[in-house]
Amino acid sequence: MSRVLSWGRYPPIPQEAHAIAWRDAARAAWSDAAREHGTTLAFGNGRSYGDSCLAASGHVVQTLPLDRLIAADWQTGVLRAEPGVTLEQILDVAIPRGWMLPVTPGTKYATLGGAIANDVHGKNHHVRGTFGRHVRRFALARSDGSQFECSPDEQAEFFAATIGGLGLTGLILWAEIQLMPIRSSLIDMTSIRFGDLDEFFALSEKLDPLHEYSVAWVDCQSRGSALGRGIFMAGDHATDGPLEVTRRKKRTVPFTLPIPVFNRFTLRAFNELYYQKQQRGEVVAQVGYDAYFYPLDSLLEWNRIYGRAGFQQYQCVVPSATARDATRAILDAIAGSGTGSFLAVLKRCGDLRSPGLLSFPMEGTSLALDFPQRDALNTRLFANLDAIVREAGGRIYPAKDAHMPGADFRAAYPQWQQLEALRDPALLSRFWERTTRT
Ligand SMILES: Cc1cc2nc3c(=O)[nH]c(=O)nc-3n(C[C@H](O)[C@H](O)[C@H](O)COP(=O)(O)OP(=O)(O)OC[C@H]3O[C@@H](n4cnc5c(N)ncnc54)[C@H](O)[C@@H]3O)c2cc1C
Repeated sequence: MSRVLSWGRYPPIPQEAHAIAWRDAARAAWSDAAREHGTTLAFGNGRSYGDSCLAASGHVVQTLPLDRLIAADWQTGVLRAEPGVTLEQILDVAIPRGWMLPVTPGTKYATLGGAIANDVHGKNHHVRGTFGRHVRRFALARSDGSQFECSPDEQAEFFAATIGGLGLTGLILWAEIQLMPIRSSLIDMTSIRFGDLDEFFALSEKLDPLHEYSVAWVDCQSRGSALGRGIFMAGDHATDGPLEVTRRKKRTVPFTLPIPVFNRFTLRAFNELYYQKQQRGEVVAQVGYDAYFYPLDSLLEWNRIYGRAGFQQYQCVVPSATARDATRAILDAIAGSGTGSFLAVLKRCGDLRSPGLLSFPMEGTSLALDFPQRDALNTRLFANLDAIVREAGGRIYPAKDAHMPGADFRAAYPQWQQLEALRDPALLSRFWERTTRT
C-alpha cells in the first residue's frame, strides 16, 4: 500500500492507496476497501488538483496498474483500454499509426478513467467539445456486484452520469474511445502578442473558427491599460511531416521546497520577461505535439516548487454574455492581490454540448491559474473571485477545486441531485462530502 496526495498537495490529506492490478479482481478489491473503511474512491494518477480525487474515508483504490490496451482498430481509430492507461500510453501507440486523442488536457499523465470522470477539455473545446463526446462505451462495476456496459443507447442514465461524474457512479473497468485522424505529429503554431483583454477577445473571435487549437497565456500581474495582456497561441496539425512519438528530455524537481519560490517580485519579473520574450507581434513556428500540448510535463513533479504548503488552482468559466466584464474584474482582483502564478491560461470555450451530466465547460471564457497555498490570502481572494463568478452566472471546475462553497456548487451544477441519486453508496469523495453536505 502506498500514500498519495492530489496534484496541488492541498488539502494535505494523504490517502492510503489500495492498488488494483486485474479487472477480474477489481470488484472484490474495492468492495473490500469500502467494507473496511465505509466508503472509498477510484484514484487514477492524481492529476486533479484539489479534493475531488480524495476519498472521504482516506482510502482510495488506485487504478494505475490497470494499464492494458484491450483492442484497437487502426482503420477506424476505435480504441478500447483499461482505465489506468495514461494518455501518454495511448499517444505512444496511436500517433505512429496516424491517430491522435480527439481531446487532451494539458498533461499526458492523466488516465483514461480520470479523463472520463472529469470530462476533461483541451485547447480545441471550441471544435470538439469535451472528452466525453468521444467516449463510445465503457463498463461500470457497482458495489452491489452488478457490472454493465454503458453507452448513449444502453444504460444511458449511467453513461451520462459517469461522464464528468467525479468517480461516484461506480468503477470504470474499461472504456472505448474514438480517436482523431492526423497526418503529422507536428503542430503549426502561430503566437500573437496582445496588449489587453479587448485584443484577446478580438483575436479569439477572429481566429478560433480558423484553427483546431487556441489558448492564451495572460500576464496576471499587469494592470491599468495593460490589464489582460498576453500571448495568443493558435495551432493546427501539420498536413505533412512525420508521425513520431516525441521523447523530450525530462527533469525532476528532486524534493519539496520548504517555501514557494513565488512572491510579488519574482512573479512580476517572470511575467514581464515572458511577455517581452516574444519580440515580434506574430511568430509562426512548427513544434512537436509534446511541447505544444504538455509543456509542464517535461518537469516531473513540478508541483513541489510550491513548497510544503502546496497550492490551489482556481479555474472558472463565465458565460459569453458576461465574459468580458467578469474576466476583467477577476484579473483586476488577482493583480491587486499580488499573488498568482507564472501561468494564467485564458481560453474561449465553444457551444458543443457534453453528454455528461456535470460537465464543467460552458460557452464562454475559462481562466485558470495557480496560487501558492497561503490560508488567509487565498480565502480572501477566492471569496472575491467566487462572488464575481457567481454574479456572472459562471462556475468553478471541480477537478481543480479545494475551496468552492457548497451553495455555489449546488447552484452552478443543479444536476448534482441526479448524480447523487445514481451515486454508488460505497463511493464518496472529500469534494462531494464538502459541497453537497454543507
Ligand atoms: C499540468 C496539468 C494540466 C491539466 N490540464 C487540464 C486541462 O487542460 N483540461 C482539463 O480538463 N483538465 C486538466 N487537468 C486536470 C486533469 O486532466 C484531470 O484532473 C484528470 O481527471 C486527472 O486524471 P487522473 O487520471 O490523474 O485522475 P485522478 O485525479 O486520480 O482522479 C480524477 C477522478 O477520476 C476518477 N476516476 C479515476 N479512475 C476511475 C475509474 N477507473 N472509474 C471511475 N472513476 C475513476 C476519480 O475517482 C476522480 O474523481 C490538468 C492537470 C494537470 C496536472
